[in-house]
Amino acid sequence: AKSQQRAGHFYFSRSMGVEIRERVRMMHALRTAFGQNQLFVVYQPQIDLATRRPVGAEALLRWQTPDGKFISPDRFIPIAEYSGLIIDLGEWVMRTACRELVDLRKAGHQNFMMSINVSQVQFRHPHFLEMLRKALEDTGAPPEFVELEITESMAMEEPDLLIKMLAQIKQTGVSIAIDDFGTGFSSLSYLQRLQIDRLKIDRAFVTEITGSARGSSIAEMVIQLGRNLGLAVIAEGVEDERQAQILQALGCPLAQGFLFARPMTATALNGWLSNDALE
Ligand code: C2E
Ligand code: CA
Ligand code: CA
Ligand code: CA
Repeated sequence: AKSQQRAGHFYFSRSMGVEIRERVRMMHALRTAFGQNQLFVVYQPQIDLATRRPVGAEALLRWQTPDGKFISPDRFIPIAEYSGLIIDLGEWVMRTACRELVDLRKAGHQNFMMSINVSQVQFRHPHFLEMLRKALEDTGAPPEFVELEITESMAMEEPDLLIKMLAQIKQTGVSIAIDDFGTGFSSLSYLQRLQIDRLKIDRAFVTEITGSARGSSIAEMVIQLGRNLGLAVIAEGVEDERQAQILQALGCPLAQGFLFARPMTATALNGWLSNDALE
């Protein structure tokens, strides 16, 4: 029994070791990739459901390894957060997206918003505000066309700190969206205390919309909540026309998803917007 126990223990720590080694390996690979410009930003258009015209884009990070493989941000963002690399990486994404916004404006795409994802690790960093101000200043991006996306789960922790941070961020002129909305348990009274501009309905609830009658209840609730609080609402992960039509019927003004466009490079976005303008 004793040897079995020991064997069991050995097996356990070895598998844990494998997991940690894998994480450390990926951490180094990510750091190298960042240094060697293997990371890039793509942009997914956001659409006005009534006119079907683009109103903005969300910046999304991509990692393509030298052998051509893509590693999902759902896998490497947590590692970037864990290792602290997210601070530099997040700053780079912000500056890249702001620069792209300026370029789009120069190409004639005015009134176009740029949404940027912000990790909670980044958000809590003591120099976050300074970094944001500097990114806006150095790139010349107009703050009123920049939006930061923070997740609902993030909004749930340390309410007082968040309320203070959001107020300071708002002073720079950028707007704030709550991402993956509907997955947490934010109350109406809590949301009222936050200086936010937009709610983003999580894809899970958009997918459910065409199922049962009850399937659309969360999307419906978020749209109603947005209306009551005077916030814009955008649905993410819209993949088919039926979803788009139901959302529109429910009063959702904005949407994003494969139905309209996949995330694309800056060059592709510029072309896509120009073609659209000629239609
Ligand atoms: P997210 O912020 O919720 O981003 C939306 C994700 O849904 C993106 O995945 C996008 O490509 C995908 N998507 C968009 N439309 C559709 C659709 O119609 N159907 C389906 N099935 N998916 C759709 P992506 O690019 O793989 O990013 C995954 C997550 O990684 C993001 O989720 C975000 O949490 C994180 N992420 C990506 N870029 C950044 C970044 O620059 N900074 C931070 N902190 N996180 C990032
Ligand atoms: Ca997002
Ligand atoms: Ca989301
Ligand atoms: Ca998500």
